[in-house]
Amino acid sequence: MPYVLPQFLVPAALLAFVLGACVGSFVNCAALRRETGESVLTGRSHCPHCGQTLGALELIPLLSWLLQGGKCTHCGAGLSARYPLVELVAGISFAAIVVADVLWGEAFSLHTLHWLILAAILLYASLVDIDSRTIPDACILAAIAVRVAYIVLAGPVLGQIDASAVALESLIGAFAIALPLLAVVLIADRVLGRDSMGGGDIKLFFVAGLYFGWRACLFLIMIACFIGIISALVKQQRELKAHEERASILEEVGFTGEAEELNLRHAPIVFGPAIAAACIITMVVGRQLVMWYAGLF
Ligand SMILES: [Zn+2]
Repeated sequence: MPYVLPQFLVPAALLAFVLGACVGSFVNCAALRRETGESVLTGRSHCPHCGQTLGALELIPLLSWLLQGGKCTHCGAGLSARYPLVELVAGISFAAIVVADVLWGEAFSLHTLHWLILAAILLYASLVDIDSRTIPDACILAAIAVRVAYIVLAGPVLGQIDASAVALESLIGAFAIALPLLAVVLIADRVLGRDSMGGGDIKLFFVAGLYFGWRACLFLIMIACFIGIISALVKQQRELKAHEERASILEEVGFTGEAEELNLRHAPIVFGPAIAAACIITMVVGRQLVMWYAGLF
């Protein structure tokens, strides 16, 4: 691993953070406009409440939201914390990916670029999954196209990697992860009598195998399940609390009818964001994990 001067690492991380925040802002806008049916390419950014077109100063990722106190400067309506949150997550992800690649001797290479593009695609897929519980096939196809373009460009064109070896490992990784999962899910669906995991989630795991290979994906699946279960538990607790509050309000006003039943068991887990987060974590620490694991034997 080449020695990297710390004074080079910090500006690289800052630059990546700013780039990530801008990409996060765009991706969030694209996901929100998918919901409203607007085109992301035409039409200037506007306040979702009053429709006022936003000026350059109101479009700075993170800063605009913070300086405006989370409110529209035209109508004063509150702007969702989702804007700065997505920008922050994207900024941190980009910075961490760039730092990891610099430390791994792949500073600002085609490799870094194709991971950053994958991170942006995964962020978009996560937001759409949260909003509409689907993972667009376009995201999967785009991710596959980026991986193929990387292997072709870094292989035969630039001669940086052994393209046939990387392509073979990618294919083995993708199918070795996705096919067993598909089998488990089909069996689980039969046994449980309902959908246990969405098809989009399996396609995301396919993409993960394509990018990280089967070794890193063993960690990736564990991390994704851990994040998915924790977030499902947190969501369940919040829904339970909200239900109890509703019930106590109904009791206070003397409502005696049949209260709506809370059905937590069959609420589907939104698993896409957990897989996406596990992919980002794998980009940052996956290589160390695989090396540590290989060192055990
Ligand atoms: Zn407004």
